[in-house]
Amino acid sequence: MGKIKVGILGATGLVGQTFIYLLKDHPWFEITEVAASEKSSHKTYYEAVLGRWRFSSDIPDNVKNLEVKECKPKLDCDIVFSALDASIAREIEEDFAKNGYGVLSNASSHRMDEDVPLVIPEINPEHLELLDVQKRNRKWDGFIVTNANCTTTHLVLTLKPIHDEFGLEKVFVTSMQALSGAGYPGVASLDIIDNVIPFIRNEEQKVETETLKILGKFKNNKIEMANIAISAHCNRVNVRDGHTECVSVKLSSNVTIDDLINAFERFNPLKEYKLPMAPSKPIVIKKEEDRPQPRLDREIEKGMASVIGRIRKCNVLDYKYVVLGHNLIRGAAGAAILNAEYMYYKGYFREYL
Ligand code: NAP
Repeated sequence: MGKIKVGILGATGLVGQTFIYLLKDHPWFEITEVAASEKSSHKTYYEAVLGRWRFSSDIPDNVKNLEVKECKPKLDCDIVFSALDASIAREIEEDFAKNGYGVLSNASSHRMDEDVPLVIPEINPEHLELLDVQKRNRKWDGFIVTNANCTTTHLVLTLKPIHDEFGLEKVFVTSMQALSGAGYPGVASLDIIDNVIPFIRNEEQKVETETLKILGKFKNNKIEMANIAISAHCNRVNVRDGHTECVSVKLSSNVTIDDLINAFERFNPLKEYKLPMAPSKPIVIKKEEDRPQPRLDREIEKGMASVIGRIRKCNVLDYKYVVLGHNLIRGAAGAAILNAEYMYYKGYFREYL
């Protein structure tokens, strides 16, 4: 079977580069187009990212000499992964969907739209049924599917098993977010060395609303938001990659720490699917008292796992723990690729093969 032809929108940025790195030798997808802003277009990809390619491995040969195009249809591909800045993503992504492309987006622009699925395949794959509603509403041949904000992704992956097994009433989360989460060049070094910045624009709102949508139910052609009280504090810290989150939860039933640990350990809904990007375990528990740590644990399961540690009683809510996850891999490009793999496996891309 041939491969699906994919384009990367925002290919020159940090998330765009991560797509290119992760899709090298992918068994189902092949990058045939790269696109970015006017500033980068008409250069080769190599020229466009000269001095800002952030991986130690070289740019893959099949991408290096591709001409960077503007983010406009028609591109020679079937689906596009969008790593565009949210300020310009809405219009561009809609333009691609109108022109028949499948859009898998990392940008926040469409995540909370009523007819746009916000999907993590281990959690809410049934939300993809919203695509029929989207097609009817928007009358376009393509589609838009989104993946969650990086901080939301790792939080909600750990909330899902405990919500399903014990019921979640309240969540309190404080994040310590890596610099690469702000894109390139991101936060000025003089602002972050010897410092913590207790503000990331719109981030707390994203964590609070996206979590409720992802844990919501698909019913009567729409998503009913989960009924959980959630409060987020988001901070930028001097870490290169990997967001750390301190989470406290109040549950609806009495459970022991062992019940909680077992729920995390059992959670593996994609196990049977053998998707290339899926981790063998989406939640990995570290037992050492001082883990997880970004530098030591962000690459576990090739950056696709949420790594939990320090599970213990909370004096205010019921339990608390720390979760760490790679923001560029499971929190961005890897999440969109996993969504695409799930859709491929379920036959959504049959027409492209
Ligand atoms: P970034 O490094 O700033 O990259 C932005 C990309 O958008 C670049 O390729 C840039 O192209 C392109 N772009 C900017 N203005 C454009 C325009 N007017 N027309 C076409 N392309 C334009 O940002 P990033 O960190 O990769 O983030 C990309 C998206 O992913 C954002 O929506 C972000 O919120 C989301 N996200 C990021 C993370 C993370 O951890 N970084 C995690 C989850 C989601 P040029 O190079 O040509 O300017």
